[in-house]
Amino acid sequence: MPDPRAVLSSPLLTWTIGEVTITRVEESIIPLTAKVLVPDATPEHVAAGDGWIEPYIEAPDDGDGHPVLRLSIHSFVVRTPDTTIVVDTCVGPDTDRGLAGDPGFADRLDAAIDGGLEAVDVVVCTHVHFDHVGWNTRTVDGRVVPTFPNARYLVTQAELEEVEADDHMGVRVPSLLPLAEAGVLDAIELDDGTFGVDDRVELLATPGHTAGHVSVWIHDGGDEALITGDAFHSPLQILDPALAAWRFDTDSEQSTATRRRLLDRFGGTDAIVLGTHFAPPTGGHIVNDADGNARFDGVGCPLADRVGRDASRPPDGARWAGDDGSGSRDGRRRDDGLR
Ligand SMILES: [Zn+2]
Repeated sequence: MPDPRAVLSSPLLTWTIGEVTITRVEESIIPLTAKVLVPDATPEHVAAGDGWIEPYIEAPDDGDGHPVLRLSIHSFVVRTPDTTIVVDTCVGPDTDRGLAGDPGFADRLDAAIDGGLEAVDVVVCTHVHFDHVGWNTRTVDGRVVPTFPNARYLVTQAELEEVEADDHMGVRVPSLLPLAEAGVLDAIELDDGTFGVDDRVELLATPGHTAGHVSVWIHDGGDEALITGDAFHSPLQILDPALAAWRFDTDSEQSTATRRRLLDRFGGTDAIVLGTHFAPPTGGHIVNDADGNARFDGVGCPLADRVGRDASRPPDGARWAGDDGSGSRDGRRRDDGLR
């Protein structure tokens, strides 16, 4: 297996959809055996990925018949002419979870957002697993407060009900309750499978990984993008949508049906699909070849043309997000999976 320290933090990546910009801000990238996340993936899937899958794979075989995924944890900052939105808030400052967090991430987010954390109007939680809500809050002077002081936090009612019934990831007290107490948590209901955040941004019901899971559809002037959330964890699932995260899914049959529906809708279009756990280039087109097989072609960022070469290295002159010393990766890589 390659030295995990070779997986460096990445530069900010930005995509443009009409007047909307979408920026990826990375908390961490870790190697994680597929045995944990998509246990039915095999080295044969990697071989079928025929080169394009390489940026997302740390090693084709963990020695036990499972590929090692290159799993990215990042937030997307979506800026429309009217609204600044953060989609998912990563693991948080706690470095002792199944996926290690990063105490420096809030500062990197602050620096990446025009106007800083205070400029964020809306935080969208695609679902409330711990690696998506960790920076909803932070501790300031001994008090747990919303990380984004002027934001409304959107979580589907179905998510809140699911976590109320079974909080096996322990997110309720640290990441949701303080928002409710501050009066900034909005339990939303989707209307016919959608919820409008902004004229250009809608949440789409994409259930299966969790019952109330949403993806984020961004559209402007004929261009469109989709932030997947955990409807997809790896581009391996574009290759084979039946690969399910069945250790974590609420309903894997439903998550597979959701993936097929998204592939039908967005495959073969110019939509930029942005994977919530996809390592750089992270965003790409779903391309259907003549045999009916789908692949993921990275687009719209400096690393896109590096697919199949060495996407873990910066393009010449690019600055890594961790160059200022806040992003030291040593000592916080874990590959022992979620728990
Ligand atoms: Zn996740």
